[in-house]
Amino acid sequence: MKKSVIARIKEWARLNSLWVLHFNSGACNGCDIEILDALTPRYDVERFGIRLKASPRHADVLLASGPVNHQSAARLKRIYDQMPDPKIVIAVGTCACSGGVFRGCYNIHSGIDSAVPVDAYITGCPVKPEAIIDAVAKLINKVKAA
Ligand code: SF4
Repeated sequence: MKKSVIARIKEWARLNSLWVLHFNSGACNGCDIEILDALTPRYDVERFGIRLKASPRHADVLLASGPVNHQSAARLKRIYDQMPDPKIVIAVGTCACSGGVFRGCYNIHSGIDSAVPVDAYITGCPVKPEAIIDAVAKLINKVKAA
């Protein structure tokens, strides 16, 4: 079915302004440094409209690092619920994918998907900034399909 003009304008705006929210649910900070590196002028992702936002209500992409623990699980879910649809969730780093080196600890649930649905898993300890940018670019199709 052909999309209306308004729907096409909304899609164009979304595709050209993917705003990301960063949440550390219990990481050692290694992956967080790589996330911030990906957002620095070195990679210049703002030329694609990708920029960091502080509010979940304005964000399209959630970059979550670290394992989910007892304290962060409810916060992560609340942030996810506040984000508007269509939203993308990326588990950044081995800990975010499965619990990683923290797996089995007394206060750890598991990876990000133990609290919210995840669209992409990027392994690595820590991940590379290029892998984060690649995942966001590949998931643009999810926004297109919505
Ligand atoms: S994957 Fe490695 S760098 Fe990233 S939060 Fe876990 S231990 Fe730290």
